[in-house]
Amino acid sequence: MSHTTTKSTVKERADLALNDEFLRKAVKFTTERLRGGKLKAAADHGNWDDWRERGRQIRLHTIAHLDYYLTTFANNARANGVHVHFADTDVEAVKISLEIAAAKQAKSVVKSKSMVTEELHLNKALASIGVEAIETDLGEYIIQLADETPSHIIIPAIHKNRYQIADLLSKDAGETLAPDTTILAGYVRKKLREKFLEADIGMTGCNFAIAESGSMVLFENEGNARMVTTVPKTQITLMGMERIIPTWSDLEVMATLLPRSATGQKLTVYMSGITGPRRDADADGPEEMHIIIVDNGRSQQLGDPEFQELLNCIRCGACLNACPVYRHIGGHAYGGTYSGPIGAVLTPALKKNVAEWDDIANASSLCGACYEACPVKIPLHDMLVSLRRRKVESGHGDKIEAAGMKGFAALMGNSKRMNAVLKLGRIGQKLVVRDGGIRLKVGPLKGWNSYRVTPSLPKASFRDGWKTLEQEIRHGLTEADPAIQARLAEALAARGKKGGKGGHHHG
Ligand code: SF4
Repeated sequence: MSHTTTKSTVKERADLALNDEFLRKAVKFTTERLRGGKLKAAADHGNWDDWRERGRQIRLHTIAHLDYYLTTFANNARANGVHVHFADTDVEAVKISLEIAAAKQAKSVVKSKSMVTEELHLNKALASIGVEAIETDLGEYIIQLADETPSHIIIPAIHKNRYQIADLLSKDAGETLAPDTTILAGYVRKKLREKFLEADIGMTGCNFAIAESGSMVLFENEGNARMVTTVPKTQITLMGMERIIPTWSDLEVMATLLPRSATGQKLTVYMSGITGPRRDADADGPEEMHIIIVDNGRSQQLGDPEFQELLNCIRCGACLNACPVYRHIGGHAYGGTYSGPIGAVLTPALKKNVAEWDDIANASSLCGACYEACPVKIPLHDMLVSLRRRKVESGHGDKIEAAGMKGFAALMGNSKRMNAVLKLGRIGQKLVVRDGGIRLKVGPLKGWNSYRVTPSLPKASFRDGWKTLEQEIRHGLTEADPAIQARLAEALAARGKKGGKGGHHHG
């Protein structure tokens, strides 16, 4: 089932996902495997946190001097014989790609995995001028057959199980294929081989662009990107403007962080460094090579103290695998090209107009698991809070929520009022409490109670019970440890002094 419609709300899409047993099982199974692999690879590495910090510093430095490194990269790439194009917007990037395809009279394009081309909806644009785009990454190929969008940065078909995949590939093959990974991969390999040989253009994304030599580097596991960059006569690489790193020795740090964070691998199976088109002595490679450097909202983050670090992302997907929300709803519920915590920040941040943001920044419990998982330590949880704040400040917040927050603040700021409301609540809840909890699915309780139970108010509040509890603790601590008892006496004496001045502590 496809959940890719962006006209629906986040809540509607999340509901669809939560009611899709297959999706939930498939996403849970793979994210757990990836997350486990990443944790093990980080532990085996031994100095993981030092390397994370090193990675963060490289990214911070590069983005702080992005103008310099982009110019250096473009100059060096041009000196290598590459046609370098800069595209300010998605429209411009698509236009440049289509112009190249038209100039080459291309009929078909083979593609290796690229999130930027997803962001630009380039396959559809190519189809509009009669050029067939064929995804050659296995997961992307499956998604293309299903007419869906990727639901994970690294594993695009994460939401599908092998039976669903076997169905899709069987239709493609015109015969029944057994749901066996080797058989299914074998079929796709054979089919794609012909496509590689026929294609006029090879199109790739870019994991890292090395400024000092004007090279682009691809990480992959299937060997398809190497085919894409060696067989067709023309190569087009699309890259976000932030993909740059200064030197090859910086790549060593990234090549340590990226595969371990993405899949738990020590090294990616294929790492290709490409410096310009084919030279006379080369055995293979494209005769013509284009690199399109895409801005599309990225430069808006430069100089923004809250969001500049967003450009440090190396698209490893570790934050998705660590996120308790993503693990339940998968990627399509986010409604954009990028999903999970990075998508929840990047999707709105790339849009200028706050009115176009949906509620995606609210799809997070702010637990910080994304930050813990991130190999370049991007504080995504802080950014989510900033996005929420900016939305409210710009007048696009939820009016009912704002009124609710005002009421809540009025209650929490005054203990007498709070106690009175709690007392009333305790009486009132008798009408609705069943088996120790509130299960009503109406009004503001509907969303929460559809999946869990709201706990009822306890008979006595913490404040009510504190007097007895305090006595018990003091008594218990006297027996346990004289040092703690002394500190407690000190603390209580200090509180007594404050109380003596007439202050009352509102808890
Ligand atoms: S934000 Fe960090 S963890 Fe998430 S994809 Fe980017 S680099 Fe990976």
